[in-house]
Amino acid sequence: MEEVSKNLFMLTLPMPFRLMHVHVFILLTEEGVILFDAGLNTQENFHLLSQALNSLGKNIKDIREIFITHFHADHCGMAGLIKEIGGAKIAMSAAAEGLLGRRKNEIFYAQFRDFCYKCGLPQTTAESLLTMFVHFKEAPRPFEIDSYIEEKSYRRGNFLWEALFTPGHSPDHVSFYFPKEKLLIAGDHILPEITPNLSPDLLSPQYEPLKEFLTSLEKIQGYNIKKVLPAHGTPFLDLNRRVEELKNHHRLRTELIHKSLSGEKNVFQIACEIFGEDLTDFDYFLAIGETFAHLQYLVATGLIKENLREGRFCYEVLTQLV
Ligand SMILES: [Zn+2]
Repeated sequence: MEEVSKNLFMLTLPMPFRLMHVHVFILLTEEGVILFDAGLNTQENFHLLSQALNSLGKNIKDIREIFITHFHADHCGMAGLIKEIGGAKIAMSAAAEGLLGRRKNEIFYAQFRDFCYKCGLPQTTAESLLTMFVHFKEAPRPFEIDSYIEEKSYRRGNFLWEALFTPGHSPDHVSFYFPKEKLLIAGDHILPEITPNLSPDLLSPQYEPLKEFLTSLEKIQGYNIKKVLPAHGTPFLDLNRRVEELKNHHRLRTELIHKSLSGEKNVFQIACEIFGEDLTDFDYFLAIGETFAHLQYLVATGLIKENLREGRFCYEVLTQLV
């Protein structure tokens, strides 16, 4: 555990799969302990969090509130358990309400199958992904949200932070800006070593992840941020440089996908060209989501056209890039 600013501690918790770790942030205020994100739901993580709090002279029951950046399992996993033990209040953006608990949602499964089919993903891959979701061992402890995060300042004791809506990586994503300390708890909005995954919201087809993400990147450039505290990877200083790298990455990827469209292709065919053909099922899932997000962006800008051929999304070039 590292004290990243006075009374703000970064605790790194392990994960048994990709990225291998996630950070949670513990803030000690005169009004109690505030947790930013709640790690993956495993016994080991619960033990590590308890231990970390003990080393600060606190325990799980001292956690008064949990502010969660977004609904992914490695960010909200233990929130329900912490709430059950000590009554902590859970705050998330209102958009999280419809995103939590989809593992039990039959409509979501139907949409998932439909989306995979339309993208051209082999049916066996789609079915094994669904099985994986249903049997996800480290699924979050179910919980109710106590209050919706608003885009405003929150004051607890001597601390003040602003919640900033930063959708893109997920529709409900929130980052937390501490103006006095010039810090940003960035969740998965901006990461130092990887580009945050973008994927469509299957129950809200109007959601455009890439467009939202680029807007949210520009938004955080408007704040005086000296240090970024990401949920994965090492905290870093040069926010503007990283924002430019990410914008550039997506510009190049969009161009690459546009160039790959000779004749009509479906999402899976394009994803295989960009990401390779020897991926795990989960990587295929990320790859088609990411590819679809870029295709959707190209369609919205009028550069390509989407057709439905025998129930599958197919894309063709409308305007050449200059
Ligand atoms: Zn995430």
